Amino acid sequence: MNTSQRAGCYGPFGGRFVAETLVPALDELSRAFDSIVRGAPFQSEWRALLATYVGRPTPLFEARNLARAIDPGGTTLGRLWLKREDLCHTGAHKINNALGQVLLAKKMGKTRIIAETGAGQHGVATATACALFGLPCEVYMGSEDVRRQAPNVGRMKLLGAQVRPVESGSRTLKDAMNEAMRDWVTNVATTYYCIGSAAGPHPYPELVATLQAIIGEEARAQILAAQGVLPDAVVACVGGGSNAIGLFRGFMKDDSVALYGVEAAGDGVATGRHAATLGAGRVGVLHGAKSYVLCDDGGQIQEAHSISAGLDYPGVGPEHSWLRETGRATYLSATDDDALAAVALVARTEGILPALETAHAFARVGDVARAVGAKRDGPASVVLGLSGRGDKDLATLLARLGVETAS
Ligand SMILES: *Cc1c(COP(=O)(O)O)cnc(C)c1O
Repeated sequence: MNTSQRAGCYGPFGGRFVAETLVPALDELSRAFDSIVRGAPFQSEWRALLATYVGRPTPLFEARNLARAIDPGGTTLGRLWLKREDLCHTGAHKINNALGQVLLAKKMGKTRIIAETGAGQHGVATATACALFGLPCEVYMGSEDVRRQAPNVGRMKLLGAQVRPVESGSRTLKDAMNEAMRDWVTNVATTYYCIGSAAGPHPYPELVATLQAIIGEEARAQILAAQGVLPDAVVACVGGGSNAIGLFRGFMKDDSVALYGVEAAGDGVATGRHAATLGAGRVGVLHGAKSYVLCDDGGQIQEAHSISAGLDYPGVGPEHSWLRETGRATYLSATDDDALAAVALVARTEGILPALETAHAFARVGDVARAVGAKRDGPASVVLGLSGRGDKDLATLLARLGVETAS
């Protein structure tokens, strides 16, 4: 790793563990990030699109019914606020990042966009942004995911993108990301690689976090307007970590605000079939960055398991590894069954059908309130990042919750 890239490090994590051929492209991207993304013209154009196209600012909603269902006495969970990223165009926070990166690509003069996708959510967001900006889009997707996520494959195609099935490895997200990087090495002069989470080699984790920081920026202003004081904790689900880091960024310097991330425990961490990278992984290198990963004793990356395709990733963004190491953030996990129960509860109490990813955060919000409430000796107020809506998960939800649809 080039040690002059300290800016791309979060303590001992992050960096650029990539083939030499990619270094000039990552340097070009770093320069464009500093000169374009941080500049006023980009910011005003991007923010105008967030307002008129994405539907920002997203609301901050107080979930009174759910708070009472979780803590009937109101002794630990005082107020629960939901940051409604599910109301974004395309149904999740991913559009904030995709729109920003594709706008950057356009300003860099790139003529072709590639992306990787697991469940297809980032692929749909990127295809959407490419349609808006009139750029061709190719999305790498493991063939196993192509099979499992047929509706999103159809959406991407309707939006004009080409979907490239990947047959290597476990034919899932990590293999799609490998393939996208391979394409980028070969076509780097014309091609922009739009990464879907706060992961990958420097400067991607910082670029994605900067774009998703709009979530925390809005949430901080909204909660101060709504209750006059900062929350005691914020909580979000963690796959690669982009929606969580976006929310955390708004409160990072507020020492009184505890930061909680919730990973996917799949069938249970003890079963080995999970995606709890920070909870049960070890330090390694995946997709160009040093971070916690799920790997075996020989360092081989292991497959992750989760009912939610968006959390089913054996790595995590490097900043989360550092936040865990320094103790600034705390990471919990929730199983598939916990997440399913949480979807059912949120749907019935608040009339909101959350994504299965988001449901992992809902599943632990009572524990978060107990932990921070105990310290402050009174009921806590908590902001939860509602990263996306559950329509995409309908087939899984109906099957796993045993809902009859025939009359
Ligand atoms: C993709 C996705 C996630 C996980 O990605 P992060 O980068 O960890 O945010 C979480 N929630 C939803 C709704 C998603 O689509």
